[in-house]
Amino acid sequence: MQAFYADHFVLPLPEGHRFPMQKYRLLRDRLVAELPQVRMLEAPRATDGELALAHAPAYVAAVQDGSLDAAQQREIGFPWSPAMAERSRRSVGATVAACRAAWQEGIAANLAGGTHHASADRGGGFCVFNDLAVAARLMQAEHFRRHRRALKVLIVDLDVHQGNGTASIFARDDSVFTLSLHGEKNFPFRKVAGDLDVDLPDGCTDEAYLHALELALEAVEQRFEPGLVLYLAGADPHEGDRLGRLKLSYDGLEARDRRVLDWAWRRALPLAFAMGGGYGHDLASTVQVQFNTYRVAADYHARWRARPAPRAA
Ligand SMILES: [Zn+2]
Repeated sequence: MQAFYADHFVLPLPEGHRFPMQKYRLLRDRLVAELPQVRMLEAPRATDGELALAHAPAYVAAVQDGSLDAAQQREIGFPWSPAMAERSRRSVGATVAACRAAWQEGIAANLAGGTHHASADRGGGFCVFNDLAVAARLMQAEHFRRHRRALKVLIVDLDVHQGNGTASIFARDDSVFTLSLHGEKNFPFRKVAGDLDVDLPDGCTDEAYLHALELALEAVEQRFEPGLVLYLAGADPHEGDRLGRLKLSYDGLEARDRRVLDWAWRRALPLAFAMGGGYGHDLASTVQVQFNTYRVAADYHARWRARPAPRAA
């Protein structure tokens, strides 16, 4: 299975910054050591033209040349540097590359990404560009060029925070369905309505979460017929997360991943996934949740090998 990384483009953070940047490198190291089926590839950088599919050109330019105003910079939560701009582009490129690989092999990954708080003209909550939105729009454009048919994209956002940026970008776009399951009391406090939002109470456990996911997937089934699935497999619903406020176990999160991947697999839909948030009290717990997602994904990748390429490719 192909997985795209950009953690070697180091985004410099001041000492004591609360974002756990090391988690990306730790995940990559564990995958290399313990899951050799996952092939590590350097993420390409997204171009201005690609970013403009989901972002205002003036915002892209301001990120590139470091001219975002102080309020914008604070909202993103990372100090600007040329490396921050480069890393943000690579993270989008990783999801785009994962989508292309998924058309060939059924499933592929971005080792970072899932930056769902970024909207068309501003970033927020550690998100600069919205990799899911850019990738969805770019895949639609490529698909139309090749097949002269519209591609519908389903975004399944299971990060514990609501995908407000993604929802705002696709608010008036019926060709992309945004599903988000998230903590009702968690950031962002002003949520932007997506196509289907499921608010979960603080302390939500495995059973309640998986039941809510089941109902949500059934509802999607009634309303939308996707040709591609983008999955944001956030690690922050885990009970050991500093910010999550939910109480999912490792097993619960693994069952969540299996349910989403199985849903796509049964419908022969290519699926690309990104990691999103994870802020474990002990960072090893975040990396464990993400590693488990890759174990499940490698299993589905093996199943895809025994079946022809995705139906719409
Ligand atoms: Zn999150």
